[in-house]
Amino acid sequence: QWLLFVILGALAGAGTYRLSLRSASPGTELKRALEAGEFVPYYQPVVDAQHGCWHGVETLMRWQHPTEGLVSPDQFIPLAERFDLIVPMTRQLMRRVREDFAGRLEQLPAGFHLSINVTAAHCQDLHLVDECREFLEAFPVGHIVLVLELTERQMITSTAVTDQLFAKLRDLGVRIAIDDFGTGHSSLAYLREFRVDFLKIDRSFISMIDSHALSRHLLDNILDLAMRLQLALVAEGVESLEQRRYLSQRGVRYLQGYLFALPMPAEALFTALQVAPDH
Ligand code: C2E
Ligand code: CA
Ligand code: CA
Ligand code: CA
Repeated sequence: QWLLFVILGALAGAGTYRLSLRSASPGTELKRALEAGEFVPYYQPVVDAQHGCWHGVETLMRWQHPTEGLVSPDQFIPLAERFDLIVPMTRQLMRRVREDFAGRLEQLPAGFHLSINVTAAHCQDLHLVDECREFLEAFPVGHIVLVLELTERQMITSTAVTDQLFAKLRDLGVRIAIDDFGTGHSSLAYLREFRVDFLKIDRSFISMIDSHALSRHLLDNILDLAMRLQLALVAEGVESLEQRRYLSQRGVRYLQGYLFALPMPAEALFTALQVAPDH
């Protein structure tokens, strides 16, 4: 029965792509795609609100499907999690990202942030530490800052494994961002326990800037909380100049959204970095 729900869910969210109709099992189809190396990284710049320069990029997975074209992650990440494929997919993605960036260091400012979305299940697996170490070994120390984005919708519970994992990640210099902040239920204690470095305010709050004062108040409360916790803020889904102005006036340090750039493949990213060297 749950399989039916998965299929219905995938259909409801799907545009023209219907993974579950054309394959015997979505799990089998995803596995095939993984082995064929069809999951590829796209990159969206994160902009420094003060200086306008590119502070780093977020890696966003795409499925380069042989017949369907580019498939967005909302269509396949939930299935990948269901079928226990998200960990090997992320591992492969990290290798791709490392390959994309390792030879291009001269085009990046030192301290450039590279963030990767990591699912909660992955944080129960100590191999993540080795994967991050291997990733960082491709770069001179300090040149790249690796950031793991953990969504607030999947709370990570503290266990012996996670405690050890987060301590080791910290030793490696890996930073932690809480993604989709405001949509979940993380408490102050939670944010302290996992020694979070960044809060990424969910897009749904950013879009409130254009709306009436009441919902804007909700965003202001979130900003207030983050400021008091002294955490660096990233606003996602910034689409208008008004939003940009509002957020930088309130001290949000990093901005990300279509106003600045869409997610793009590596080649386009490096071209953009060349065209605007101050980026
Ligand atoms: P997210 O981590 O919250 O990523 C931000 C999403 O907002 C991305 O959608 C991005 O393309 C989109 N976005 C950025 N700026 C704007 C804007 O100005 N306006 C609007 N309307 N949207 C904007 P995308 O790439 O489709 O990814 C959707 C979600 O899929 C991500 O949400 C993340 O939760 C998940 N995801 C993507 N890649 C991975 C991955 O490698 N691993 C895991 N576990 N999840 C991933
Ligand atoms: Ca994210
Ligand atoms: Ca996000
Ligand atoms: Ca989000």
